Amino acid sequence: MRFLPYLLIFTCPAWAQKKTIFMITDAEGVGGVCRQDQTDPKDPEMRQLLTGEINAAVEGFLAGGADEVIVWDGHDGSQTLSTLTIHPKAKLLMGALGPSMLMERRFSAVAYVGQHSRADVRGGIMAHSYSSLGIQNMLLNGKPVGEIDVIAAMAGHFGTPAIMLSGDQAAADELHAIVPEAEVAVVKEGIGRYTCISLSAASARDAIREAARRSMAKIGLIKPYTVPGPVTLQVEYTTRNSLPVGAELRTGAEVLDDRTIRFRGKDILEAWRLYRAQ
Ligand SMILES: [Zn+2]
Repeated sequence: MRFLPYLLIFTCPAWAQKKTIFMITDAEGVGGVCRQDQTDPKDPEMRQLLTGEINAAVEGFLAGGADEVIVWDGHDGSQTLSTLTIHPKAKLLMGALGPSMLMERRFSAVAYVGQHSRADVRGGIMAHSYSSLGIQNMLLNGKPVGEIDVIAAMAGHFGTPAIMLSGDQAAADELHAIVPEAEVAVVKEGIGRYTCISLSAASARDAIREAARRSMAKIGLIKPYTVPGPVTLQVEYTTRNSLPVGAELRTGAEVLDDRTIRFRGKDILEAWRLYRAQ
């Protein structure tokens, strides 16, 4: 019996590990946000709506047993959130993440708040894949994807599961297509790109808090989402954003036409790194 404490230390059981949630945030999937002008990072109402949803999610994660919640200000250049208004127990990550999205830190889980669906989805409110003006389409191993798939795959590459999402119905469906067990809070329904039926801010926060709390129980049950290698990442830009001169010379790149380029890597990390190495 006297050796038991040592055994516990060295085997390091899951319940003894610090539970850190990495929260990816965006604006287009927030309840009450339905017009393009509302996504201006300095829009005071949007900032309040987004911060309220984030803080509700933080409350839910903490209630569900999280030790630490790191919130990434992921919308438009990381200029929307403030440490003055973020939940006192959360930490705010500001700035660009780089190609690995910091996933090498092997968080306990990732979650999305305010998430929109990928480009071209019918009923997806302000749906886009990384850039509404610059990118028409993005294909991962031939499958159309947006931020939801790419983030889940990058997290999965480092063994981290995606456990929770809040956003519109289209975004929730998109995560469920690859992680059926994930908890979702649907805060609005898209009728068209700029037409939605939204919950009130108070109801959206309640739904998000509950989904976040429930999702904590699924850590260890939800498998990390992985994309089998080798991985191709094909990016189709918009007409006004055609490929620059010399795109053919980029490492690991194949130019398919004037606005389409394909990168090939042994895994998601390599393919995404080649793409991001502008
Ligand atoms: Zn986005």
